[in-house]
Amino acid sequence: MKAAMIQASSFVMALRLAVLVVLSMLLAPVLHAEGHPSWGYSGPGGPSDWSGLDERFQSCGLGKSQSPIDIRTRHVRKIGLKPIVFGYTESPAILANNGHTVQVNPVMPGHAEFDDISYRLLQFHFHTPSEERVDGKAYPLVAHFVHENAKGELAVVAVFFRTGRPNVALKPIFDEFPLRRGELRQLPVLLNVAALLPADQSYYAYTGSLTTPPCTEGVKWHVLKTPVEISPEQLSAFRKLYKHNARRVQPLNGRVVQAN
Ligand SMILES: [Zn+2]
Repeated sequence: MKAAMIQASSFVMALRLAVLVVLSMLLAPVLHAEGHPSWGYSGPGGPSDWSGLDERFQSCGLGKSQSPIDIRTRHVRKIGLKPIVFGYTESPAILANNGHTVQVNPVMPGHAEFDDISYRLLQFHFHTPSEERVDGKAYPLVAHFVHENAKGELAVVAVFFRTGRPNVALKPIFDEFPLRRGELRQLPVLLNVAALLPADQSYYAYTGSLTTPPCTEGVKWHVLKTPVEISPEQLSAFRKLYKHNARRVQPLNGRVVQAN
């Protein structure tokens, strides 16, 4: 009886190890950014240096529709944008400390529909303070949910966090933070990604870029208006790993922000 139990638990451990090995192979490019020079948020390699670090990073300096932006609500155009249809599923997930943020990679994440087009959720990660601003104001933290459609086009959903009560949906992630850069950890429970979203999912929309090198443009941004809460203790747990990992706001260059 006991031997069988030990066998079963070592089987589960072996399975978890195998999952971790396969995923670390898949995530190797994310973690080591092979062939990419190192970039950061301050000093040499900071945002003003990004475009000069690699010719693939030129958009960071030359791009005319970069992210993040400051959303001026007075200038927002209210039109009949369709609600985002979230179809996230509960999933095992791998956490990666990639040297720039903590990134969560759900294994079977589900999808979201933007304007009737289905996008698969690839990963989400955090920035402190929030990169996007609303009327000049930043929130203490933002999560970016990065999606890709069948054509390889990207769409991101930004969810703001304001300080308040502990965020129960974040707890399993924050309990398993990979502390060392390059470290991966498997979440011991299924992750309920949908539980991270606010109940009111109305949003601002505009076209921008990745906020990190290579700053690729043509990214469809959806910034949810309603923040969710995070406790000061949870916020400081993230800031122990990353004190400041936000790019400053970029010029609009005539872009119009829409809202529903
Ligand atoms: Zn981001």
